[in-house]
Amino acid sequence: MAGAESGDGGALRGHVVLFPLPFQGHLSPMLQLAGALHARGLASTVLHTAYNAPDAAAHPEFAFVAVPSGDAVSAALAEAPKDGIAKIMALNAAIEASGCARDALASLMVSESEGDERRQRLQRPACLVIDAALPAAQKAAAEVGLPTIVLHTGSAAAFRLFRSYAMLREKGYLPAKESELDRPVIEMPPLRVSDLFDPSKYVNEEMGNKILALSTETTTNSSGAVVNTFEALETPELHSVRDELGADIPVFAIGPLHKLTNNNSDRSSLLEQDRSCIEWLDTKEPGSVLYVSFGSVVMVNQDDFREVAWGLANTEMPFLWVVRHGLVAGNSGKPVLPDRFMEAVKGRCHLVDWAPQAEVLAHPAVGGFWTHNGWNSTLESIYEGVPMLSRPIFGDQPITARYVQETWQIGFMVEGKLERGKIEEAIRRLMEGEDGVAVQERADQLKRKILTCLEDGGSTQQAIDKLVGHMLSL
Ligand code: UDP
Repeated sequence: MAGAESGDGGALRGHVVLFPLPFQGHLSPMLQLAGALHARGLASTVLHTAYNAPDAAAHPEFAFVAVPSGDAVSAALAEAPKDGIAKIMALNAAIEASGCARDALASLMVSESEGDERRQRLQRPACLVIDAALPAAQKAAAEVGLPTIVLHTGSAAAFRLFRSYAMLREKGYLPAKESELDRPVIEMPPLRVSDLFDPSKYVNEEMGNKILALSTETTTNSSGAVVNTFEALETPELHSVRDELGADIPVFAIGPLHKLTNNNSDRSSLLEQDRSCIEWLDTKEPGSVLYVSFGSVVMVNQDDFREVAWGLANTEMPFLWVVRHGLVAGNSGKPVLPDRFMEAVKGRCHLVDWAPQAEVLAHPAVGGFWTHNGWNSTLESIYEGVPMLSRPIFGDQPITARYVQETWQIGFMVEGKLERGKIEEAIRRLMEGEDGVAVQERADQLKRKILTCLEDGGSTQQAIDKLVGHMLSL
């Protein structure tokens, strides 16, 4: 069993098993949650696939168990088409077909014949924490009689929205009509039809519907849900999901997870982080640099990539840009920058394959973040009080971008066709204009709220205590 002592040196109170989805934006928050539970006295065992396996050496406080048929699962993932949804489906199918999660859980359920009753109680897991998109792991847990808690790595707004598709269809918002993209979804302000993930527009409609169904089904079949958010950020959204789920499925708002322990995003990074950018930032004026990153998964097309490059170049401002391998669709390698781009930006641009993002956002030189609004990136930016330029691409990102612009008013969206002039204008608005000053003020206010929720007795700290109590009562 992992660690004989909890994070604060106290005695262990129990044991939980966690099974993250093996993608960066899902793996990091699950490991961060494991860290928070461990700090409260729960030993944590992390089940994982060989594909995108976490670095066990970076987390000596946890036990790591590779699911036994890891290779079969990895092969299925490698063969699945590149997009995230297809990979999630392939992963679930492979886990179910191989029985690997059930076998791994069964071996953890066996109480040692030796040892006293207390020791056995501590060793037997209280529950399995699964990613919301891992129903196959939930089925495996049910087979061995283990209750599940679901981690939602997205916002409460996305959680609520994805549970509302029957209503969205009934009221005619979906399938989305071209003429109605600006129509407000009055039941869920500030969303518009264009922000909704529409399975009928997705490359495989059946798969699009399935992913929605499975992420709601796991919560409905669970003993509780954790959302990586905080009460003051999404009060009405949390209220709605709690109302709908009722007392049997309590919802715990535990975020921002990356700030709960020193188990930050850097320790769970799947790619090597290029720290040269921190030294480069050290040479820049406070608030002068735009940080640009579109996360670990999304791709942009070659035309958009070129417009982004020239839009950035034409501002004549310093910028740090994460140009990761595979960022440009159709090329799994290093993206090719436009001719003469490097000459045009000499001395004021730093490019990296992958950055220590949380540290970058915390750096005083960073004054703005051009983001795809993945939920982790958004929370990291909110925590550091960095205003955003939002260019969402897929899934829950448009929902988050709309909240950034309309509800929290801590950034602006870059909508429509990407074009260098428009990009330059948007960057100047964020980094130089009066509007930029106003969003910075609101980002500072929100930062104060996030700090309050993390203090002793703050909403997030209280929610962790409640979650631990709930887990031990299952
Ligand atoms: N990230 C990072 N270095 C980078 C870009 C991203 O460490 O250069 C991290 C970032 O801090 C965040 C995660 O990768 O924790 C991306 O998660 P998010 O939910 O924002 O987006 P996704 O990658 O799932 O689309």
